[in-house]
Amino acid sequence: MIKIHGIRGGIHPEGRKHLSAGQPIEALPLPALLHIPLAQHIGAPAVPLVRRGQQVAKGEMLARAQGAISAPVHASTSGRVLGIGQYPAHHASGLSVPTITLQPDGEERWHERIQGVEDPFALSPEAIAERVAEAGIVGLGGAAFPSGVKLDLRRKYRLHTLIINGSECEPYLSCDDRLMRERPDGVIDGARIMAHALGVERILIALEDNKPEARAALAKAAADWSGIQVVKVPTRYPMGSERHLTQALTGVETPARALTADIGVVVHNPATAFAVHEALRLGRPLVERVVTVSGGAIARPANVRLPLGTPVRDLLAHCGGLSEPEAQLISGGPMMGQPLPSTRVPMVKGSNGILALSAAERARPEPMPCIRCGQCVDVCPCGLVPLELGARIRAGDYEGARARGLTDCMGCGSCAYVCPGAIPLAQLINHAKGELAARARAKQKQAETKRLAEQRSARMEAIKRAKREAMEQRKRELAAKKAAEAAAKDSPAATEEA
Ligand code: SF4
Ligand code: SF4
Repeated sequence: MIKIHGIRGGIHPEGRKHLSAGQPIEALPLPALLHIPLAQHIGAPAVPLVRRGQQVAKGEMLARAQGAISAPVHASTSGRVLGIGQYPAHHASGLSVPTITLQPDGEERWHERIQGVEDPFALSPEAIAERVAEAGIVGLGGAAFPSGVKLDLRRKYRLHTLIINGSECEPYLSCDDRLMRERPDGVIDGARIMAHALGVERILIALEDNKPEARAALAKAAADWSGIQVVKVPTRYPMGSERHLTQALTGVETPARALTADIGVVVHNPATAFAVHEALRLGRPLVERVVTVSGGAIARPANVRLPLGTPVRDLLAHCGGLSEPEAQLISGGPMMGQPLPSTRVPMVKGSNGILALSAAERARPEPMPCIRCGQCVDVCPCGLVPLELGARIRAGDYEGARARGLTDCMGCGSCAYVCPGAIPLAQLINHAKGELAARARAKQKQAETKRLAEQRSARMEAIKRAKREAMEQRKRELAAKKAAEAAAKDSPAATEEA
């Protein structure tokens, strides 16, 4: 039995998981078009390998990774490349990003090179990490960090434990819960393959105590293997944060700005484990994922398996559409998710849910002055003083907020959730982080402009100097020539001739 250690702060928001958790995973019919962005991960965008009009097979690589941190993207189905251009991103900014648009041919024809490995455990850890990277797998819990890079951490850290984070602590979301209930063997197999790649003997699969069915399914699937423990953790937001879950399971706190790998632990999501299982056993790259569609304004909440690149509007239409046209659309959960500017945007690797919140669900009272009750301090899992951060930010003192730990804030929203004055602390903090990042970018740009200007003026000075020296040299040569001519005129031979 694993001892569960307490974590700092946390809240118990209304889960509202009942809306979708009872719905088995269903497949979305192929949309008419798929929009596949080149950057669906943290790191450098992928570089296109296909051209307009090209026929591609399902699973074929459309764009390759570039640099140390990146991931390739693959065709989510067979069809024709309609174009490579700018298309609105799955992001609150609504900005357009380079995207490949694919027209499905309906045949779902897999690429001929798609082939699994008979025994992944016979592969070296490096070969597993390489295959995972080539499959374009990224953290499917929302972080979208390239999993191949994470599986290579054994080179740099002394690791001892792999944690599969099945907490899914955000309200409404149930896609991980359903995957663990319905495909437990695949999740366990993927976790074992990842543990082999990381060189660790111990696998902890942690689920909040509101998922008894998933826990039972995983425990049954893990029963034949040693070194795997399925662990129940209390339902408490944000238990799904990597560092807090690690602390709950090991009792060791990950220092601020460090990685859990620094204390010997790597954390992966169950959907990522399942994707690793499919990549190694079947040779399939990451071309689809399961997402939750929920919220009071969606006609039919569901858990849907969809091809990556599916427009959000196709997904909403499949779930019966919106019962409130003014519904607020959120990508992810209500605590840490981002508002979606349009239903045109495509579903990407890191999107685990789409919520359509009704007016009643998003109603917030008008903000009131702070009464210094301290509730925000009690719930902050990062040990910050949100009321102080909020006050500094409202006064425009962003540097003061930074000095009080602004950048250590994980953006969980717990402070805003409990504030009796409905002060939008999380929004203020996000705004200040954005402002500081913009200032840092501006400062960097200014320094770069100054450096380029200095380089240019040094170049111009060098050119001027070279010209001056050339002119002086020319003058010296002319003077020497004239002197030589004069000397020749005055010579005795010249005088005799004359
Ligand atoms: S919870 Fe709200 S009212 Fe209470 S101290 Fe924090 S900011 Fe002030
Ligand atoms: S949003 Fe930031 S400041 Fe607020 S509770 Fe979460 S970690 Fe603490």
